[in-house]
Amino acid sequence: QVKEQGRNSFLTFNPGMNRRYEEQLALEKYLRKAIVKNELLLHYQPQIELESGAIVGLEALIRWNHPVLGQLAPNEFIPLAEETGLIVSIGEWVLREACQQFRRWLDLGLLQEARVAVNLSSRQFVKCGLVNMVRKALQETGLDSRFLELEITESVTMDMARASNILGGLANLGVKIAIDDFGTGYSSLSYLKRFTLHCLKIDRSFIQDLRTDPGAMGIVNAILAMARSLGLKVIAEGVETEEQVQLLHEMNCPIVQGHYFYQPATAPAIEELLAERLNSVSKTRRKRRN
Ligand code: C2E
Ligand code: MG
Ligand code: MG
Ligand code: MG
Repeated sequence: QVKEQGRNSFLTFNPGMNRRYEEQLALEKYLRKAIVKNELLLHYQPQIELESGAIVGLEALIRWNHPVLGQLAPNEFIPLAEETGLIVSIGEWVLREACQQFRRWLDLGLLQEARVAVNLSSRQFVKCGLVNMVRKALQETGLDSRFLELEITESVTMDMARASNILGGLANLGVKIAIDDFGTGYSSLSYLKRFTLHCLKIDRSFIQDLRTDPGAMGIVNAILAMARSLGLKVIAEGVETEEQVQLLHEMNCPIVQGHYFYQPATAPAIEELLAERLNSVSKTRRKRRN
């Protein structure tokens, strides 16, 4: 009965809903061509090791220069890309672009012991052939697998058997795996010991509430302790204030990422930043020698 009503109300003409549907259709039409029209681009956000101040990672974050709507953030088109399956080709483009860019920065000597982090949606993760796609992307861009970290969310670990297989394959390639938005998913923690993982990224929501909410502080401390005993790296996401940095430092959180240090920026801007940092490091070294 209730189901019937639900169905009928869906069919009822609703101008607002109809417009939304048409907007989505139009967006999908544009998105299908976005890759060949060169409208997608990656921004990169540095990840900072608190102890040394070194940039130890760069997370690739997709943007879409829509011809009419201007630059769109991932939450404005990634859900649509996932629904329509376009995420598979978009995801492959992201991976290749990020690997190629990172290889260039390595070749230029701008980075040594750092990694590029690429987000995978769960739809990509369950698609057959992911491991082969990653292997090919690395081969064809000439990036050594140890420089690549893939970010997945807890949701993909729900199907343990399947996830175990894929993560095993990726580990064999030498690629690192990070759990993104850690602490917000619904999966059990048992996957942490079953899978070959490398890193936990503490979700931004816990970092935001760090000072005001003792619960958030407790959770962050617990994640840090657990990661330490499991030998996992930890990155705190969404660090925006000096106070948060101070607290995370006192809690011995090794790596942070957020607007307090750097906003995500275009590849040329990041290249400039890396060159400047390299320059100032060699200057202080020279000074020390003299
Ligand atoms: P995420 O992977 O958790 O990425 C972190 C998000 O937090 C990014 O948003 C970043 O710009 C933002 N952020 C970084 N520092 C701060 C901060 O200090 N404060 C606040 N408020 N936000 C901060 P963005 O770029 O809009 O990306 C949103 C989400 O879209 C990402 O969350 C990721 O899940 C997804 N995404 C981004 N790029 C890709 C991609 O290439 N493929 C897939 N499948 N998903 C992507
Ligand atoms: Mg991420
Ligand atoms: Mg995240
Ligand atoms: Mg996310």
